[in-house]
Amino acid sequence: MKFGGSSVDTAESIGRVVGIVRGQRDRQPVVVVSAMAKTTRKLLEAADAAAAGLDPGPGFEELREYHRREAPSGAHGVLESYFSELRGVLAQIAAEGRVTPRLADHVASFGELVSSAILSQALGSPWIDCRQVMITDDDFTRAKPVYEETEPRLRDALLPHIEEGRVPVLGGYVGATIDGVTTTLGKEGSDFSAAIVGAAIGADEVQIWTDVDGILTADPRIVPTARRIRTLSFDEALELACSGAKKPHYGTLGPASRADVPIRILNSLHQAEGTLIGRRDPAAAPGIKSIACRPGVHQLTVQGDLERIWEVCERFRPALLTLSTEEDRAELSLDRPDRLPEIRKALERFARVEVGPGRTVITLVSEDLAASPGLAEMALEMARAWEPRLLLRGVSAPCVRCLVDEREAESVLAELHERVFPGPPGEPIP
Ligand code: ADP
Ligand code: MG
Repeated sequence: MKFGGSSVDTAESIGRVVGIVRGQRDRQPVVVVSAMAKTTRKLLEAADAAAAGLDPGPGFEELREYHRREAPSGAHGVLESYFSELRGVLAQIAAEGRVTPRLADHVASFGELVSSAILSQALGSPWIDCRQVMITDDDFTRAKPVYEETEPRLRDALLPHIEEGRVPVLGGYVGATIDGVTTTLGKEGSDFSAAIVGAAIGADEVQIWTDVDGILTADPRIVPTARRIRTLSFDEALELACSGAKKPHYGTLGPASRADVPIRILNSLHQAEGTLIGRRDPAAAPGIKSIACRPGVHQLTVQGDLERIWEVCERFRPALLTLSTEEDRAELSLDRPDRLPEIRKALERFARVEVGPGRTVITLVSEDLAASPGLAEMALEMARAWEPRLLLRGVSAPCVRCLVDEREAESVLAELHERVFPGPPGEPIP
C-alpha cells in the first residue's frame, strides 16, 4: 500500500491512512509512503538557499513546525534528530556554496525519512530504513535500483514482520548505494519504490493511494469531466505514463509487469474500486482508454538510416519517441528539452537533424486500436482537425498522437475529450 504526499499531509489524513491500513490488515500489507505534501520541494529550496549564501532558516523552521504539528507526539524525538541532522547537511551545503546531486539527494531524503517515521508511529508498526533495503547505483537524483541486491534485502527485512502479523512501514523514493550513500529514484519515485517492493515479495497487488478515484480519461485539472477507467493493461498504462499522464508513474510498471503483480490506483479520501492495471478484461468492448498530454515537446525531423535512428530512439526512450517514419526520414518527438544537445549529437553522427518549435503532444491510447480497425478509423476521424498520426506501435501500446501548438493544447484536449468520451462524467470507462 503506497500513500502519496497528499494522503499524508495532515494529522487528519494520517489518521485516515491508519484506518485504511488497519482495514486491510488480514491481507498482510506493507506500507510505502511519500514525503508529506510539498516537503521535497521545500527541502530542495532550503538547500538552494543555503548554497546561495542565504539563510535556509525560515524554510527549515517552517518544515520542522509543520511536521511537529501533524505528527503524533511519540514521533517528536525522532523528528528532532532528523531535523538536527538536516541542519548539519544544510551547513555543509552553505560551506561548499553549491548543491551537488549527492547533497541534493541527502537533503531530499529527509522528506520520506520523517514521513515514514511518523506513519510507523501512528500505526504502531515497525519502521524499515529504506536506505538499507533499496540499493541503487550512484546516479544521484535519478538512481536506478540494483535489483539483485534490493530484492533479497526487501524479503529479509519484510517477510519476518509480515509472517508475525506486523505491518512494516518504509519511505519510498529514497535508497542508498551499496556503500551506504543516500540516493533517490527521481521525481515521483515513491510509486516506483512501491512496485519494487510488491514485486520482490510477490504481493497480490500494489495499491497506489492518491487524491483521485483512479486513472482518469484525462488530467482532471484540465478536463474536470474526466471519467474513471476501470481496467488498463500494463502496456496501456505504460504508454499513458510515457505520453505525459501524471498517474501512473512509468517507473512502477516495469517491476509490476515483470512480476505480474497488478497495480490498483485508489482514492484515500473515499474508498471505491479504483483502477486496476494488469491483465485486461477480454470481455470488455473495444474503446479508447484515456487521453494524455505532454507539453514542452520538440519535433525533430531526421534524415538518415532508419535502423540507426531507431537505435537512438531506443537509447533515449521515453524522452525520444518516433511519431512516423518513411523511407529515410523519421519524425521524432523529444519531451526533454534539456537532453536535446546530447540527442542531437547522437543523431548528427549519421543523419541530418531539424528541430521544430515547442508543441504539445496529445495521445489517445488503447490496445484495441490494433485489434479493431473500426476503432482506429473512428479515433482518427475524431482527431482529424489536428492532423492525427496513427501509431500502431507507441512505446508499448498502440496510440493516436496529435501535435498541437502549446497555446492551444488545453482547448484541444477538452474538445477531443468531449468527442471521445461523450457519456456522463460519473460513468466509468470499462
Ligand atoms: P500523489 O501525491 O498521491 O503521488 P500525484 O499528485 O503525484 O499524487 O498524482 C495525482 C494527481 O495526478 C491527481 O491529483 C491528478 O490531478 C493528476 N493527474 C493527471 N492526469 C491524470 C490522469 N489521467 N488520471 C488521474 N490523475 C491524473
Ligand atoms: Mg506524488
